[in-house]
Amino acid sequence: MTDRNSSPQDDALRQKISGLLSGGLETEAWPRAETSEMVNEIVGRLHTDAGDDLEKKLVIGGFTDHPIEADEIEQPCETCMYYLVHRRFCELPEFMLPVEPNWSCRLWRI
Ligand code: SF4
Repeated sequence: MTDRNSSPQDDALRQKISGLLSGGLETEAWPRAETSEMVNEIVGRLHTDAGDDLEKKLVIGGFTDHPIEADEIEQPCETCMYYLVHRRFCELPEFMLPVEPNWSCRLWRI
């Protein structure tokens, strides 16, 4: 996928997600996905339990509107391999969501 700029649709959805996160949506930020088994389990749940349901994606993915530090490493979207800088977008296939650079999730990967 090309890293085009954020669209009005992305902006609106990012705003909606921001509202959910700042509004107190409780997400499974811990434990972080530290092993490939944990990654597989979380990705599996995203397929079976979340599908296209936005809130379930955020909950199971453990989204936060601030960076999380794990094992002394900050894990913001902006340093994640799935982050598209110009679009401010997460291209992990199970998410495909607009994000902010200082958000985070437990599938963060370098
Ligand atoms: S996978 Fe990476 S870019 Fe996507 S939400 Fe998680 S930390 Fe952010």
